[in-house]
Amino acid sequence: MSTPHISRHDFSTEVTQLLDIVIHSLYTDKEVFIRELVSNASDALEKLRHLEITEKAITDDNLGLEINLTTDETSGTLTIQDFGIGMTREETIQNLGTIAHSGSKAFLEALKKGDETNKNLIGRFGVGFYSAFIVAKEVKVYSRSWRKSAPGVCWTSDGLGSYTVEEAQGQRRGCRIILTLKDDHRNFAQSTTVKRILQRYSSFVPFPIHLNGDRINTVKALWLENRKDIKAETYQKFYKFHSNAYDEARTWLHFNVDAPISLNALLFVPNTNPEALGFTSRLKPSVALHCRNVLIDAHPQGLLPEWLRFLRGIVDSADLPLNISRESLQDNQLIQKINRLLTKRFLKHLEDLTKIEPQAYEGLWQHFGVYLKEGSVTDPLHREQLAKLLRFASSWTTEISTSLDDYTSRMPSKQKDIYYLHGPSRESIEAGPYLEAFKTRNIEVLFLYDPIDTFVMNHLAEFAGKRLVSGDQKDLDLGELPAESTIGDPLPEKKLTQLCTWIQTTLGNNVEKVTAGKRLVGSPAVALPNSPISPTMQRMMKTMHPQTSEQTSAIILEINPRHPLIKNLSTLHETNPLRARTALEQLFDNTLIAAGIIEDAKPMLTRLYKILETLTEVPRPEENSEKIKKTS
Ligand code: ADP
Repeated sequence: MSTPHISRHDFSTEVTQLLDIVIHSLYTDKEVFIRELVSNASDALEKLRHLEITEKAITDDNLGLEINLTTDETSGTLTIQDFGIGMTREETIQNLGTIAHSGSKAFLEALKKGDETNKNLIGRFGVGFYSAFIVAKEVKVYSRSWRKSAPGVCWTSDGLGSYTVEEAQGQRRGCRIILTLKDDHRNFAQSTTVKRILQRYSSFVPFPIHLNGDRINTVKALWLENRKDIKAETYQKFYKFHSNAYDEARTWLHFNVDAPISLNALLFVPNTNPEALGFTSRLKPSVALHCRNVLIDAHPQGLLPEWLRFLRGIVDSADLPLNISRESLQDNQLIQKINRLLTKRFLKHLEDLTKIEPQAYEGLWQHFGVYLKEGSVTDPLHREQLAKLLRFASSWTTEISTSLDDYTSRMPSKQKDIYYLHGPSRESIEAGPYLEAFKTRNIEVLFLYDPIDTFVMNHLAEFAGKRLVSGDQKDLDLGELPAESTIGDPLPEKKLTQLCTWIQTTLGNNVEKVTAGKRLVGSPAVALPNSPISPTMQRMMKTMHPQTSEQTSAIILEINPRHPLIKNLSTLHETNPLRARTALEQLFDNTLIAAGIIEDAKPMLTRLYKILETLTEVPRPEENSEKIKKTS
């Protein structure tokens, strides 16, 4: 048998770093440490309650599931005690000596980015257990694990780089944390101060809290209550408590159903998207699963589809077997049913929001639209409902975003398809060659700025029976140009055929076909790849897989028979074929640039210099004198 001994350990580098910031920060809101320690106690009790169901063996201790705080002004200490799962010696070393806590990790990462002051960050992330060192010069954690064979332990530290661990006799299950307060923080040993803080933070803690023997909170499960009795303010408070959030929720959905499943759900949409802020690369699911108020899993996989990972909240189903293992959750049929029910109800909630509070929806779309787009690509089951929630910019409106419903309601009856164009910005699409065909015919075009949008459109393929068509596709039949927009006569048919043949011969394998089209108005020509994959899509594939991005699809060059440049070429290729060739090559490259097929214009600079040379040519002196002679 090993003899009880005391051992000294160094904190991991990350903990030392964190402690250094915590201890030296000028953080004003020092009282947060109480919230953090109470919340740890509550987690430990929650875990124990779960174990009581799965491991029958531990129920005989008869210790209340409660949190007790005691203050001692004389010795300047504050004690926080719980009868939760407790920790073994090894667990104290692992849990309190290294950083496993995701909030602390995120805190350190955000700090490295250096875009916020320490002060704001501590409040935002919560630094968990280590916040005790904001106010304490020494922290002692007495603990006894729920595993009966493990002896009691005492963990001690002054937060300055190391800690000791030793065996402690006579401990009851759970944790007793004694903070010896720094001289200037002895106010936290006053019962009135601690009471005020607890009242502020503890209203949703799901276990009774006592301070010096007096009960402080009433335990209630908000999600089990009737939503008619709950104020918006209470929901916001609960959201902040439950999600450890510093912001307000954008919207929430609270519902209770009895059939076909007994379900109470309270789902929140946060204010901002942490994935977009770069605080985390991928959110883990954070709608907790409960069964009759007992936490089963705080981060259950499979309770909601992946694309709803931004939601926070609680789902409680009395139909779940309490002893369900976390591993088997995902394969559980009931969970899958709950998943479908929640998704349907949440999508309906968003649809209602678009009608009742369009502005609130607009804000939500700005921050979380990316998830709804992801859903419309990855979740065929909900694609139709999601399609109604998508929002786009449009050639017709600049102020508000457009839904596919808005678009179809504005479509003239003879228009068959829904059109969209993809580009980095409104300016870029408006300057490109594809929009003019729609503009002159007064056809609305949706503008897509986000690379994922093209995938969304391809996956949706249609909306309300109308095809979704990229405006840079070949074979677009937009009908005749309105008479008022056809300025100038087109080249006569014969000349046009000759010109097309010449272009085809001159450009050789670079083009598959040369046609005279009706789509163009102001531009001389446009490149249309002969492929079901639109140029936009090709461009995106190229960005994603540069190594396999050889331009493979053949190009159809559509020329505008009314454009002066085309008319000039028609004459020039007979009178000065060399010049005509240079002009054509440049024209062709311009269409490829406009289509985004050529991104590097450097190789064409030599040709451009040649063209500039011709443009800037000054007639030679003898030519001048010739002219003068003739005119005189
Ligand atoms: P977090 O609680 O967010 O994981 P903390 O730094 O607050 O991070 O705590 C680190 C770990 O220490 C916890 O994950 C938990 O395993 C353990 N711990 C802290 N307080 C208690 C407690 N009262 N009872 C049991 N374990 C605890």
